[in-house]
Amino acid sequence: AKRSGRGVVRAFDESMDESIRFRRRIESGLSNAIAGGELSLVYQPIVARETLEITGFEALLRWHSPEYGMISPAMFIPIAEESNLIHELGDWVLETALAAVKAWPGQYVSVNFSPRQFRRQNFVGQVIERVQRSGVSPSRVQIEITETAIFDDAERAADTLYRLRQMGFRIALDDFGTGYSSLYNIRKFALDCLKIDRSFIDGMGRERESMAIVQSIIHLGRALGMEVVAEGVETQAQVETLRVAGCSHLQGYHLARPMPQDDADTLATARFIG
Ligand code: C2E
Ligand code: CA
Ligand code: CA
Ligand code: CA
Repeated sequence: AKRSGRGVVRAFDESMDESIRFRRRIESGLSNAIAGGELSLVYQPIVARETLEITGFEALLRWHSPEYGMISPAMFIPIAEESNLIHELGDWVLETALAAVKAWPGQYVSVNFSPRQFRRQNFVGQVIERVQRSGVSPSRVQIEITETAIFDDAERAADTLYRLRQMGFRIALDDFGTGYSSLYNIRKFALDCLKIDRSFIDGMGRERESMAIVQSIIHLGRALGMEVVAEGVETQAQVETLRVAGCSHLQGYHLARPMPQDDADTLATARFIG
């Protein structure tokens, strides 16, 4: 920008304005989205590799904005995360997921919580209250958090996870391998499940590094008695590689795409991916 002079700087400023305006519109759109019935959850099966039995479903948020159409949660969650909107969204997600899991014979529902939700004052109390009110057993609810949520304040996070696990909730560490986890910290957390980030599964066939990381995570998870879920499984070749590596659970388009509640209910009753 320095060398090409003022024109470039101005263009840059204008595009900044543009993106701030866009953010604000997303924010105000989102704050009406719940009341307006524009949100929904879709559910993606998590499957035992050997039997293809569905052990759970991950709940994934969808926003159909009247202004912009379908907007990816990867786009609007970070915006919600910067304001208190994330709490409103998160409460709606948990409430809706709890209603869904009641229709299934035994599978758990896996719910994503952003770092800010996780660090909310009295997070544990609020989750417990909601789940108790719904009548769903905590053992049928998995709490998915990322490394970012727990490694900022490891002591407090460890305490939060411990209390949730004491109540019977399942705890999964999402996008594992992409954050700042150290092996030293991992052992202090009460975890049931490691989810291997999609980027490593995607890289397995191409790069030795990805393959090595996938194998290490599987070994680590097994040694510590955790379930390991490979995310973003898209091909039969990946299923084979993960079988040889000893990965216990799979999630991805090759098994099933995220689907609306009705379809999830049907699959849950069938119990296996056909
Ligand atoms: P995530 O938690 O890592 O969720 C997995 C993402 O991978 C989902 O994207 C899912 O649709 C997608 N996916 C699943 N299988 C495959 C596959 O085989 N190939 C490919 N390419 N993608 C696959 P989605 O639904 O767009 O969600 C994006 C992110 O938004 C999530 O990543 C999560 O971080 C966040 N998110 C979604 N729903 C919620 C929510 O209710 N609360 C919070 N806090 N975050 C959410
Ligand atoms: Ca997730
Ligand atoms: Ca993930
Ligand atoms: Ca991810």
